[in-house]
Amino acid sequence: MPTKKVAVKKSSAAKTPVKKVAVKKSAPATKVTKTAKADDGLPLSVLIRRRIKAQNARFHANDNISAFIKPGELEGLVDEVAEKMQAVLESLVIDTESDHNTKSTSRRVAKMYVQEVFNGRYVEQPALTKFPNVSRLNELMIIGPITVRSACSHHLCPIMGRIWIGVLPSKNSALIGLSKYSRLTEWVMCRPQIQEEAVVELADMLEKKIKPVGVAVVMDADHFCMQWRGVKDRDSKMINSVMRGAFLRDSNLRREFLALIERK
Ligand SMILES: [Zn+2]
Repeated sequence: MPTKKVAVKKSSAAKTPVKKVAVKKSAPATKVTKTAKADDGLPLSVLIRRRIKAQNARFHANDNISAFIKPGELEGLVDEVAEKMQAVLESLVIDTESDHNTKSTSRRVAKMYVQEVFNGRYVEQPALTKFPNVSRLNELMIIGPITVRSACSHHLCPIMGRIWIGVLPSKNSALIGLSKYSRLTEWVMCRPQIQEEAVVELADMLEKKIKPVGVAVVMDADHFCMQWRGVKDRDSKMINSVMRGAFLRDSNLRREFLALIERK
């Protein structure tokens, strides 16, 4: 086995430089035709970006751009990301031809980004059934902990945590089913994020949907860019809270909410 390994490595190492030069020279042309899912032979991401820019819309890491993606295009985007991810692996000098573990890594990572962990950028907001507040509930409601899986937009490292949502409805509020809080949270969090912005976005959305007297969001999370890399501080956590309306004005309500979530 060891002898075999050396032999394989040597031959692929000898081949690689020659191959690379050839590929690099024709790279722009090949790439354009290869990713030609779009009508005019442009990579799909370029087309989507054009649509976004034509509307002067923002496409930061934590923005949802589903309005600019046509049905069926997400599959094409996976293809394009896979191709570029393959180039990243090649630049990392990983032998994806002989190493069976990394053979399909580029495609796996592309699918993971587009269809799973960053999916909240590409799909529409989940449909919400709203119920009128018939029993005129005006008591504090707490939902959580909701599991959060996200990624930091600085390093694309995982952020794993929990969220609690406090809602003080008014008699005119539209209530949403309990499971919808998780769906909405997931939709917002499945994007590269900064935790401070993520909680604000979630609070904004809940305010708009429910029109409560007050809304509160608390998130506590482990940031893997602090644990896996950087200072390697395994115990550091980040806790953020956003208080709106009654939660901001009424310190008793705020205390009640914070006391109740601490017990969970
Ligand atoms: Zn980071």
